[in-house]
Amino acid sequence: RPCIFWFRRDLRLQDNHALYEALRSGYKVQPVFIFDTAILSKLEDRDDARVSFIHRELRAINKQLEQQGSGIAFYHDEPNKAWEEIVKEFDPIAVYFNHDYEPYARKRDKEISDFLRQYHIAVYTFKDQVIFEKEEVLKSNGEPYTVFTPYRNCWLAQLGESHLKNYPSERHLAALRSHWQTIPTLKELGFVATKQTFPSKSYKTVIDDYHHTRDIPADEKGTSHLSVHLRFGTVSIRSLIKDARQASEKTWLNELIWREFYMMILWHFPETVNKAFKSAYDRIHWRNNESEFDAWCQGKTGYPLVDAGMRQLNETGFMHNRVRMVVASFLCKHLLIDWRWGEAYFARKLQDYEQSSNVGNWQWAAGSGNDAAPYFRVFNPEIQLKKFDPKLVYAKRWIPELDDPFRYPSPIIEHKKARERALEVYKSALKD
Ligand code: FAD
Repeated sequence: RPCIFWFRRDLRLQDNHALYEALRSGYKVQPVFIFDTAILSKLEDRDDARVSFIHRELRAINKQLEQQGSGIAFYHDEPNKAWEEIVKEFDPIAVYFNHDYEPYARKRDKEISDFLRQYHIAVYTFKDQVIFEKEEVLKSNGEPYTVFTPYRNCWLAQLGESHLKNYPSERHLAALRSHWQTIPTLKELGFVATKQTFPSKSYKTVIDDYHHTRDIPADEKGTSHLSVHLRFGTVSIRSLIKDARQASEKTWLNELIWREFYMMILWHFPETVNKAFKSAYDRIHWRNNESEFDAWCQGKTGYPLVDAGMRQLNETGFMHNRVRMVVASFLCKHLLIDWRWGEAYFARKLQDYEQSSNVGNWQWAAGSGNDAAPYFRVFNPEIQLKKFDPKLVYAKRWIPELDDPFRYPSPIIEHKKARERALEVYKSALKD
């Protein structure tokens, strides 16, 4: 009887913790992947870039495994049905997979584990996606941190060599079971290929100069663009942290810790995917004007930095972090549109969509998050433009008609007026 390794958001053969443990178990290993119809059927766009990305990465892995005479067994179904098939087909002795912390995944993994145990199939799970998970970095009273800086200090104080250990799964592929199966085509899955491109995995040149370059949206090499790779596990977080730790400058390491901070928050406060972390903020009377929301989505607000960001997102599936902060603040405060609308739009469009980071950062922008911007801080999108894109290089890249007053709209709302209105609405929601 073989054991099964279940690929999920860890799409790599190198330094993959659960895969390594499966390969070292003494049993032959059959890797599986499930194209989860419960997730895929909810995607609005048939050319969803994430599906193309996953497909591309799995195809490459399967090709590499083919050289060993092995391969992934693919399923296109709901996970519980797929697992019934897997158990029938392989009669496994054990199942190995890496932890996933999102509410949907937690529920799924519990159900699948319960199902497998009914058949006396052992389930072994491992940490792979983060350095510290769940309850590993807590305050001295045992409660989770809700403020970033003390969390980061504790995270750094706890970091040791053992956390950065490499799990060289790639060296043990001979333990794979023989299997041959081609990956279903995108068409068979109900999708078409995206026209968007995907970033490479090279990042080392970014780290040392990051604190100078990270806030310049026009500089496409100013940040690592690793977020989509981190989302789907095509890079190992342990190897990134090793490099980040050796760098002379630690700002980039800090950002990777923000990622874990929000994952930890989502683990402890899963209800915050659609509820304000600070509940008083759920009393805000959002205006939720649909035509203004459309203008924001299409990049037609008349504020160049906001519009350039939204157009970059719509075209490429990526938006620079500084600009994400500005467009999010603009939606919540200038337009008084519920942060959940913006969160959902980003979830649809971002290649790197990560529930924990997206919800955490949206709540930060709305002011409702745990370690959030204070409600009275309202970004001025014109000052942000002057500061971070003074020569309009970024703005013009995405808005070619910027200089043409007949084609580029004037601002949808005046900044001063919007600011005063936001402060009033926020104050009245928070006063009790
Ligand atoms: P780099 O600047 O090179 O940073 C390296 C890595 O650190 C990133 O890949 C990411 O994993 C992590 N990181 C950086 N900034 C943050 C941050 N503020 N919070 C959490 N992790 C961070 N990031 C996502 O990965 N998925 C999302 O869905 C997402 N939604 C966001 C929504 C809003 C409103 C805002 C303001 C930010 C959001 N971010 C999100 C965080 C950040 O904008 C992106 O991680 C970053 O722009 C990705 O580009 P990069 O890989 O070049 O990042």
